[in-house]
Amino acid sequence: MNLLKQIEQLILLQKVDSEIFSLKKKLDEAPQEVSTIQEKLETQKNQQAQVEEKITILKQQEQKLNKEIEEDNDRIKQSKNKLMMVENSKEYHAMMREMDNLEKTNRLREEEKLAVEEDLAAQNNIKSSLDTEIDKLENELKEKQERLDEQLDGAQTRLDELRKKRENATQEIPQPILSRYEFIRSRLSHPVIVPVDNGVCTGCHISIPPQSFIELQKGEQILSCPNCQRLLFWDNHFSDNGDHP
Ligand SMILES: [Zn+2]
Repeated sequence: MNLLKQIEQLILLQKVDSEIFSLKKKLDEAPQEVSTIQEKLETQKNQQAQVEEKITILKQQEQKLNKEIEEDNDRIKQSKNKLMMVENSKEYHAMMREMDNLEKTNRLREEEKLAVEEDLAAQNNIKSSLDTEIDKLENELKEKQERLDEQLDGAQTRLDELRKKRENATQEIPQPILSRYEFIRSRLSHPVIVPVDNGVCTGCHISIPPQSFIELQKGEQILSCPNCQRLLFWDNHFSDNGDHP
């Protein structure tokens, strides 16, 4: 296989590798989106539980106040009835005082009840917006989860295809060149093989020495950029067949 053919194979291999790279990145990031929603949902549910507990306590307070108000109202009613039958004024005044006290206490209870009811309304408002938010997040989570499963399936299938493609591509490339490619790939960020444009390496954007450029144009060996070590090819070698990257 001639050198240009080898370079073409390397470029093909690089295409496969960059797709594998971005697929793997996607596979890594997708579950993170799901867990972000899960965390948010958990926080909201904790808040919901706290609000529900507050509402329960406030309702108990309201019931207790209602019961006490009712009981004392009954007592006041009974006292009023008895008042008619009282014969001496000492007893009469004692009962009046008692009724006054009961009424005063109930007025305070009514005030407290109003405050509790206001608090209860506020907590119910908070709860209803939390309920809405939780509903929304649960739907979003379900949707993301389903899409994630699809994505993972699709990506896995594509990865299997790419691995086969990669295997085929590597078979066409002589072992020493493939080793160089793999070595650079393990050390440098993408890409590994780059075109030289007007004597400049498009990997690191630094001019290569004129002598190297002349050798590159001869097409007799695969050169590395002296600065970034990436493999180089001359764009013009591929401009006539139209299928270079
Ligand atoms: Zn370079």
